[in-house]
Amino acid sequence: MTFKELDLIDPILRALEAEGYTQPTPIQEQSIPILLKKRDLLGCAQTGTGKTAAFSIPIIQHLHAEVDPKQKRQIRSLIVTPTRELALQIDESIKTYAKFTQLKSTVIFGGVKQLSQTKALQQGVDILVATPGRLLDLIAQGFISLKHIKYFVLDEADQMLDMGFIHDIKKILAKLPERRQSLFFSATMAPAIIELSNQILGNPEKVTIQPKQTTAEKVDQSVYMVSKDDKVKLLVHLINEKEAASTLVFSRTKHGANKIVKKLAQAGIEAEAIHGNKSQNIRVKALNGFKEGRIKVLVATDIAARGIDVEELSLVINYDLPNVPETYVHRIGRTGRAKASGEAISFCDAEERAYLRDIQKLIKQDIPLVEDQPFHDTSKEEKPAKKENNNRNSRPKNSRSRKQQPSSTYGNHS
Ligand code: AMP
Repeated sequence: MTFKELDLIDPILRALEAEGYTQPTPIQEQSIPILLKKRDLLGCAQTGTGKTAAFSIPIIQHLHAEVDPKQKRQIRSLIVTPTRELALQIDESIKTYAKFTQLKSTVIFGGVKQLSQTKALQQGVDILVATPGRLLDLIAQGFISLKHIKYFVLDEADQMLDMGFIHDIKKILAKLPERRQSLFFSATMAPAIIELSNQILGNPEKVTIQPKQTTAEKVDQSVYMVSKDDKVKLLVHLINEKEAASTLVFSRTKHGANKIVKKLAQAGIEAEAIHGNKSQNIRVKALNGFKEGRIKVLVATDIAARGIDVEELSLVINYDLPNVPETYVHRIGRTGRAKASGEAISFCDAEERAYLRDIQKLIKQDIPLVEDQPFHDTSKEEKPAKKENNNRNSRPKNSRSRKQQPSSTYGNHS
C-alpha cells in the first residue's frame, strides 16, 4: 500500500515524500480511509505507531479543501492532548505534513507565559493543538472560540484520565458544536475510557493497533534481578557496557529521576532528567539535546516521557518497574520504532516481582532473565513481609490494589 493509494492530495504526498515516508503504517492504512469519509473513529493505539499522521493527514486534507481565502481564518480543528511535550510534537508534525498547504496551526500549553500563544491565535489559525488547562483558560479570557470546530481529536485519553483531566475534558466537550467529526485515541480501553468515548463519538469505526507487535517482534527485552541498593551500580555498568547511542531511563518518581541523574554524574556519566517539576524550557532543552544526540542519557518519569519521539532511541532501561503493566508496553514502545530495532532492559528488585508477573501476563510472554551480570540478586522470592518491614502486604507502597495475590514464582506468567 502506498500513500497515493489512500487518495491523498498532492501537497500532502509531497510533504510525506520530503519526510522520507515510503509506506503508511498499519494505523495510517486503516484510519485514513475512515477519516477521509468523515466517520468518527475510536483508535486503540499508542504513540510510536504513526498515530499523529493517521489523524492529522485527513484533517489537513479536509481543511485544505474547505479553505475560503475570502474568509478570516477560524479554528476549525482542535486536538487536545495531555502533556506539553505531546502537544509540541503534534504541532510540529502537523506543520510538517501541511507545509505545502496554506493552513496554519499553533500550539498552546500551560506552564509558560501566554503572550506568544495569544499573539499566534490573534493572527488566525486553522488547527489548534492544546493541553486542557490552558485551552480552558484562554477560552475564558476570550482568546479562543470553539464555535467553528469541525474536526476534534482527543489524544491519549487514558493518560488524560490518569492525570485527572476528566472535568476539563467535559467542559471542553460542552463548548464544541454538535456537528463535527470526532476522533478518540487511547493506548488502553478500560471501562472509564469507553464511557468517555461514548460521550464524544457517534457510531464510530474502530481501529486497534496491538502494542504487542512492538514488544514481541521488534524489541529485545530482558530482565535483571537486582537488589534496590545495587540498581545504580547496575545502571552505570550497563550504560558503560552497552555504549548505546541514546538511552532512556524510566523512574517511577520525579525525586527518583533526579537522584539517578545525580548518581550517574558521580560515576562520570552525563544525564538529564525530565519530569513535571522541571520548567517547560528545561524540559524542551533536555529533550532537544537528547533528540540531537548531545545528551546520551535521559531519565524520565512516565508522564514526561509520553512525548518523547526519538528516531534512533536504542536502549530503554526500566530502572523501576511500573506498577501498571500497560505502562511497560508504552515504555518499551519508545524504542524499536518504525525503522530501528531496540533493546529494553528492566531492573526488578525483590519488591517489584509482582509487577513483573503482571507485565508478563499482559504481554503473554516471559521476559528473558539475564543472570550473567555482576549484580545478580539470587534471592528467589519476595521476602516475607515481617522480615523486611512491618507491612503485612509485600507489594510496594504505591502499588495499585489488585485482586490477584502475587504467586510464588516470578518466571511464570500463566
Ligand atoms: P507517532 O506515533 O505519531 O508518534 O509517530 C511515531 C514516529 O513515526 C514519528 O517519528 C513519525 O515521524 C514516524 N512516522 C509516522 N508515520 C510514518 C511512516 N508512514 N513512515 C515512516 N515513519 C513514520
